[in-house]
Amino acid sequence: MKDTFKHKGMRQQLVKVVESKGITDKNVLNAIGKIPRHLFMDSGFLDHAYQDKAFPIAADQTISQPYTVAFQTQLLQVKSGDKVLEIGTGSGYQTAVLCELGAQVYSIERQHELFKKTSKFLPKLGYRAKKLIFGDGYIGLKEEAPFNGIIVTAGAPFVPKPLLSQLAIGGRLVIPVGDDVQTMTLFIRRDPKQFEKHEYGEFRFVPLLEDKN
Ligand code: SAH
Repeated sequence: MKDTFKHKGMRQQLVKVVESKGITDKNVLNAIGKIPRHLFMDSGFLDHAYQDKAFPIAADQTISQPYTVAFQTQLLQVKSGDKVLEIGTGSGYQTAVLCELGAQVYSIERQHELFKKTSKFLPKLGYRAKKLIFGDGYIGLKEEAPFNGIIVTAGAPFVPKPLLSQLAIGGRLVIPVGDDVQTMTLFIRRDPKQFEKHEYGEFRFVPLLEDKN
């Protein structure tokens, strides 16, 4: 688990790339500049860790592209102390970004292998999520609701109702919606019954799987 001078240099380059693609939130850029992404990847891909690309991790899943992580996190507008629910822990990279922003992070993963691996790994880097959960993100985490932010890091064929209902008033849900290609979608809960919806560009994610799969 080494983080060398060379890695740090490559990370600063990555920050510049992400910034040049339109990310302006300084806290998000700082987090990307700080987190050793190479340590979240399988050894075969170490050399690629600071390219702005998604890569395979265990269980046929991927670590999201840094730009995508930054884009979603920027939309979430996390403030220190916010309670944030992540669906799709995966490698834990997005979880680490949320921790860097001072959020109290709850994260759900449905692949047991990844859940186990990431639960062990994140604390080693000093990232302590409030809770990592092995379970189904479609149902959210009712017992800890309401959340100031909910971020879904897999492509959802539809917007799961429980996620909307677990948002605090003023809370934000960032979710890529669609089957083969997803539209990045932001919902802001304005009052108990009213949700404002905004759509951003197209992205590609691994699918948010339902129980039957
Ligand atoms: N945030 C992760 C992205 C991983 S890819 C990272 O930065 O590495 C999406 C993840 O969502 C995968 O790990 C996949 O196993 C998980 N996933 C898919 N369907 C899910 C569901 N219904 N509930 C929780 N996690 C799910």
